Amino acid sequence: AAKESGRSTYRFYEAEMRLAAERRHVMTAELWEALEKRQFELHYQPIVQLDNDGIGGFEALIRWRHPKRGLVAPMEFIPLAEETGLIVPIGDWVIREACRAAAGWPAHLRIAVNLSVSQFRHVSLLSTVVAALDETGLNADRLEIEITESVFLTDADQSLPRLRALKELGVRIAIDDFGTGYSSLSYLRSFPFDKIKLDRSFVSGIETDAGNLAIVRAVVGIGSGFNATTLAEGIETEEQLQKLRAEGFSEVQGYLLGRPMPQHEAEALIHGRALKTASSRS
Ligand code: C2E
Ligand code: MG
Ligand code: MG
Ligand code: MG
Repeated sequence: AAKESGRSTYRFYEAEMRLAAERRHVMTAELWEALEKRQFELHYQPIVQLDNDGIGGFEALIRWRHPKRGLVAPMEFIPLAEETGLIVPIGDWVIREACRAAAGWPAHLRIAVNLSVSQFRHVSLLSTVVAALDETGLNADRLEIEITESVFLTDADQSLPRLRALKELGVRIAIDDFGTGYSSLSYLRSFPFDKIKLDRSFVSGIETDAGNLAIVRAVVGIGSGFNATTLAEGIETEEQLQKLRAEGFSEVQGYLLGRPMPQHEAEALIHGRALKTASSRS
């Protein structure tokens, strides 16, 4: 009986695996189609500057408007897009679309765009960025590229010149999800960056967890030591906002300040009612 059940378990796994492979296959085809049929859209989440409580810019976050499944979050398709190389054409579209939107905004507003490691490594990256800036007329210093620590870690021989080339164009570099990588901090000495985005996992426990507060303080110190802007991600409560303001962060982002929203809503926010943080609200 044990042998029997072992065999059927195996058959079950085999069937599961086949199904998973099939799903991936279908989804890869669907992603190609999504590109052709323009089913991707960018949502924009406000970034608030704490020195004047004004919006300093937006982060562009991709969504897939799936004909049957509705709005699909990036975590459900970006990993597959990375594996299949589709992230490169998708990412090209993201950069162009984000620059196009931002070019229509007041000149003090920046646009932040996320790049995955494989996009960062791809030979076409620089020419894509140059073309997007050219086509849209967006000033390079209004574009901020968000990369994670993993970009710094592997293949430094290639990453460093690439980062320098982006810096030479005038593009800004932000380190996303800071604190969650496996890296030592030594890369900070050799790589150019303009901003550190503290991962939201450190923000969420800040009210109660003394360890998180210690990390938050260390990050503010690193930021000021390297002359970089410090941003705290994932602010959801007034209390978190007050704490991070008191610790000296320059910028905040999170559901409390504004969720990612379609372009027309972002533009209503830009042109209409001002976004207010806690101290100015009352
Ligand atoms: P990320 O760059 O760290 O973006 C922040 C994520 O946290 C976003 O999720 C955002 O909606 C969410 N978020 C913002 N504020 C809060 C908050 O207060 N609480 C909580 N719980 N979450 C908050 P989203 O849009 O699902 O994106 C997830 C990740 O997908 C991004 O993480 C980024 O790594 C990746 N991604 C998004 N758009 C792109 C893209 O165009 N290209 C690439 N390569 N990756 C992208
Ligand atoms: Mg990001
Ligand atoms: Mg992040
Ligand atoms: Mg993240």
